[in-house]
This record gives sequence, C-alpha cells and structure tokens, in this order.
Amino acid sequence: MGKLAQVVKPKPNGCIFGDMIERYAEDDEDRAAVISPNVTAAAVWKFVSQEWEQVGLTTVKAHRAKECACFRGVA
Ligand SMILES: [Zn+2]
Repeated sequence: MGKLAQVVKPKPNGCIFGDMIERYAEDDEDRAAVISPNVTAAAVWKFVSQEWEQVGLTTVKAHRAKECACFRGVA
C-alpha cells in the first residue's frame, strides 16, 4: 500500500449515459436538458458525443425512455 489508492469511480448502475450525466452535467439545467422531451434524442446524442464522450444513440434513447438501468433500481 505504498501508493496512493487509485480513485476508481464505481459504475453506479451500468447505464453509460446516466454515468456521463453524473460526471459531465454542470448543473440541474444540464441534467434536465439531456432528458428534455423538447429536444430529440438524436440532438442530445450529437451534443454529448461532441462535448462529452462517445456514447451510443441507443443508450441515449434507452435512458430518455427510462428503459435503462438508472430506472430499474438495480445496483
Ligand atoms: Zn440511464
């Protein structure tokens, strides 16, 4: 244990997009914007892929449809 412990962020629930929101969204406005029904999934996907990280459109859609691990209550 001579080294500092590595900071490993646990995957909260297996949803990549939910994890990205936790890491990149700067405020509640950001968090709301990426799941807003007023913005298409494709537009959100394009934004996050360019500004945050690469993510699958399917993953974005699943999260927005609340069909991902975030909404299943799975740890
Ligand atoms: Zn999710």
